[in-house]
Amino acid sequence: KFNTNLGQHILKNPLVAQGIVDKANIKPSDIVLEVGPGTGNLTVRILEQARKVVAVEMDPRMAAELTKRVHGTPQQKKLEILLGDFMKTELPYFDVCISNTPYQISSPLVFKLLNQPRPPRVSILMFQREFALRLLARPGDSLYCRLSANVQMWANVTHIMKVGKNNFRPPPQVESSVVRIEIKQPRPNIDFNEWDAADNDESMSVDNSSQYTEIVKSKIEQVLTQTEFSDKRASKLDQTDFLKLLYAFHQVGIHFA
Ligand code: SAM
Repeated sequence: KFNTNLGQHILKNPLVAQGIVDKANIKPSDIVLEVGPGTGNLTVRILEQARKVVAVEMDPRMAAELTKRVHGTPQQKKLEILLGDFMKTELPYFDVCISNTPYQISSPLVFKLLNQPRPPRVSILMFQREFALRLLARPGDSLYCRLSANVQMWANVTHIMKVGKNNFRPPPQVESSVVRIEIKQPRPNIDFNEWDAADNDESMSVDNSSQYTEIVKSKIEQVLTQTEFSDKRASKLDQTDFLKLLYAFHQVGIHFA
C-alpha cells in the first residue's frame, strides 16, 4: 500500500503527532505549509489551530485520501492541497512550516525554506536522526560539516524530540528527530551563492591551490596569516569566523563564485 520510494512512513503515534503540531505555536491567523501530508495525521491537527493549511503532496492517492478525510468537516475549506513535487512547486506565502519530511529531499527542502523571499517564522521538521544531528552540530563536533555551517549561517536550529522508528507504519530503517528551524531576520547581509562557494570542508591550507596564479596564492596566504586562520581547520570555525574570513578576502579583492 505504501510507496517507500516516496518515503511513505506514516506517523501513527497520536501523542507524537500532536506534540509536533503544538511545538509550532500556531496562531489562529497563521497559514501553515505542510510538506508531504500523506494520509493527514498531522494535517487534521494543524487544521484545528491554523487559519489555513497549504499541503504539497506528490502522490495522488495520498492526496485523495486526505481530501476524503476532511470532506464534509468544518476544516474542509481551510485546506488547500497542491499536487506535485515540493521541490518543483512555487510556494505561496506561509507563516509556519510543518513536515514529517520525505527524507530523500531533506537537504534541498531546508534550503528551499531558507531561500523563501518571506521566510516562515518557524519550521518544525522531522528528519532522519543523523541529518538532524548534522543540522545541530557545533564547530569541533564530529558531525560538524558544510551543511551545519551553511544552515547555521541563516537560521537557529534547536532539537525538539527524538522519535523512534516504531512510531511509523511501515517503520523506516533509521531513527528520527524533530527540529525547530528559526530563520534569522533580518538576513545576514551576504550573498548566499558566494557564501556557499566559499564555504568548504577542506582544510584551509593553500597547498593544493595549483589552479590559482602565484599572485592570488600569495594574497590568500596573506589573508590567512593576517586573520590567523592559516593553521586552523574549517571544522573548528563558527559563523563569525567564516564571515571574518569572507570579508578579509573581499578586502583584497578576492570573491568566490
Ligand atoms: N505527513 C505524513 C505523516 O506524518 O504521517 C506522511 C509522511 S511520509 C514520511 C512523507 C510523505 O511525503 C508521503 O506522503 C509522500 O508521498 C510525500 N512525498 C514524498 N516526496 C515528496 C515530494 N518530493 N514532494 C511532495 N511530497 C512528497
